[in-house]
Amino acid sequence: MAEEPRKSLNFIEEIIEKDNRTGKWGGMVYTRFPPEPNGYLHIGHAKSICLNFGLAAQYGGKCNLRFDDTNPVKEEEEYVNSIIEDVKWLGFTWDALCFGSDYFDQMYEWALELIKNGHAYVDDQTAEQIREGRGTLTRPGTNSPFRDRLAEENLNLFERMKNGEFPDGSKVLRAKIDMASPNLNLRDPVMYRILHASHHRSGNKWCVYPMYDWAHGNEDSIEGITHSICTLEFENHRSLYDWFLDKLGVHHPQQIEFARLELTYTVMSKRRLLELVKEGGVRGWDDPRMPTLSGMRRRGYTPEAIRAFCKEIGAAKFNSTIDIAKLENSIRTDLNKRAERRMAVLNPLRVVITNYPENEDELLEAINNPEDESAGTRKVPFSRELFIEREDFMEDPPKKFFRLAPGREVRLRYAYFITCEEVIKDDTGKVIELRCTYDPATRGGDSPDGRKVKGTLHWVSAKHAVNAEVRQYDHLFMKENPSDVEEGQDYKSNLNPESLVIIENAKLEPGLKAAQRGERFQFERMGYFCVDLDSSDTRLVFNRTVTLRDTWAKIHKKGG
Ligand code: ATP
Ligand code: MG
Repeated sequence: MAEEPRKSLNFIEEIIEKDNRTGKWGGMVYTRFPPEPNGYLHIGHAKSICLNFGLAAQYGGKCNLRFDDTNPVKEEEEYVNSIIEDVKWLGFTWDALCFGSDYFDQMYEWALELIKNGHAYVDDQTAEQIREGRGTLTRPGTNSPFRDRLAEENLNLFERMKNGEFPDGSKVLRAKIDMASPNLNLRDPVMYRILHASHHRSGNKWCVYPMYDWAHGNEDSIEGITHSICTLEFENHRSLYDWFLDKLGVHHPQQIEFARLELTYTVMSKRRLLELVKEGGVRGWDDPRMPTLSGMRRRGYTPEAIRAFCKEIGAAKFNSTIDIAKLENSIRTDLNKRAERRMAVLNPLRVVITNYPENEDELLEAINNPEDESAGTRKVPFSRELFIEREDFMEDPPKKFFRLAPGREVRLRYAYFITCEEVIKDDTGKVIELRCTYDPATRGGDSPDGRKVKGTLHWVSAKHAVNAEVRQYDHLFMKENPSDVEEGQDYKSNLNPESLVIIENAKLEPGLKAAQRGERFQFERMGYFCVDLDSSDTRLVFNRTVTLRDTWAKIHKKGG
């Protein structure tokens, strides 16, 4: 029997399969996705979600959604709710929904244990003194004068820190490791600081809060995680992660680092995204130009397209920036199979068919999706007055322009051949109407005498058309790398002023009147569009999800 062709494994799968062979975790795979609830999730998080939940599913394991909510200052309920919604929307179900803050008691107990065993001490130095004492890459640190406090005294002070006897910043608990370590993270890192702040879940119960490196390994251990997957910046935190868990002698997961996702024409840190939201660079976290999952959802992205994208880019150990065109292609590929076609004229030019009977109309059959026969057909009304796309007409066309021009014949999709007989202009010379004739024998779009036309245009019957606002989006930033700036400027100077272009009165085929929020369509020849959340019974609003082809590359890369 022929062997199954085996797809090559990524480096994390290799680690897991080796662990399974050696029985390291008894064949168990337990991962977690651990966001800090201090912002909305973005496409980079989707990569981590797909990896963590994907690996668990692939190996019959489990995956938790865990809020790493140990910093009371920047975290909010709103973010928790949005993260839950986004993970569900992406199509994943967690085994347990956890909050790091639920483990504060356990973490405190474990801190006491480290103190008792001489592995942690209370330091009275100021933040500035601690920073100074830490040294640099070329200069070893110096021991704190409080480093040799006895366990007894440390226990007493730490308890009083917890009880609220000291003001913010007056004391910290530090791990006692090695002030001369070449790895700065091991130079007696801070484990707890005093913060008289209210926490979104534990309220005012605590006024000491654990630092990330201390808390994170504790959380992984408590939940029985086997493979703790994080991004590359944490590579040189791994020895600290290991040190804490070794000293505690508790369940000790393996930390594995992978490259974070970066995309061209995009910023992806929550800090920057929050800044854009606050300073009005965008309309909100779910602005369709944002790389947030809520923004992408609103723009018309499907979870399937995002998952396919994450699968395609895979997981690696070196950082690289992915071309945003790859992401756009993933939604094109998905919607091409699924989105029904409709006709919509975004920038209308009136056409009068002079030989078509007045006060008459007819219904023509149009195909809903040539990629999916089961999508069937629909009827589209045709009448004497129509709209076509303004850019589909040129009075004085260059050689390669195959659309409508004076004296030229083209096909109206699903309808008839028409010929442009006369061009009507206003006082300023702007073309405002075309007078055309049609050939009744070409009904359905083919000529019985085998006559050929080169152009096929979409159109909408003027009296049947419904109006809509159409929001056309482009890259949020003008530069591939938004951080590439002139001196004294920041990434915001690269914001693209044309990232949103609003068309007030597009003309749509009448069936679209019933379109529901979130519904997606291909507007023939124009791109993929979806109904925006702002849409109402009285005013239709569409977002352009993506154009049919990658036009940006053509326009912007040439000569640049
Ligand atoms: P940001 O820098 O955007 O604030 P973060 O790493 O601070 O991101 P967390 O909420 O801590 O955000 O992230 C939760 C998980 O998502 C972490 O495991 C983190 O490694 C992962 N993650 C965050 N950003 C990316 C990214 N761009 N690519 C891949 N994974 C990411
Ligand atoms: Mg973080």
